[in-house]
Amino acid sequence: MCVFCRIVKGEIPSYQIYEDQDFLAFLDISQATIGHTLIIPKQHFENIFVLEEDLAGKLMEVVLKISKKLKEALGIEAMNLLNNNGELAGQSVNHFHIHLIPRYENDGLLLKFSTNQLSNEEFQNLLEKIRL
Ligand code: 5GP
Ligand code: ZN
Repeated sequence: MCVFCRIVKGEIPSYQIYEDQDFLAFLDISQATIGHTLIIPKQHFENIFVLEEDLAGKLMEVVLKISKKLKEALGIEAMNLLNNNGELAGQSVNHFHIHLIPRYENDGLLLKFSTNQLSNEEFQNLLEKIRL
């Protein structure tokens, strides 16, 4: 059983800040910044590609609720939402989860996007492939 399923079952202790029928939110053990929180569905889904759609909708409501609580309680004005899917994306626990990472002045956390220069043709080709 995965580590987050064990947290849901209470086999591993965690600092829980929210629970309902479908979701659990608890403090990330590594606290990238103070208040770093994880939100998970209680049911085990490996990643976003297999997450149930109606659950995903409800999950966003929980994300909003907890974001507002963190903002108010920690006095923050900035926060990153992060979700890693797959090893290449840095997922280390294979139970879908969303990171809520409050941001502070000089908090030392570096999340930096690299840039790729694409030609107009490359953009068009890409669009043909992925447009829904
Ligand atoms: P990922 O890298 O998969 O996106 O994030 C997994 C997160 O789970 C990491 O930030 C890590 O600190 C956190 N984590 C791993 N094991 C435990 C645990 O047993 N308890 C808690 N609270 N967090 C954990
Ligand atoms: Zn699990």
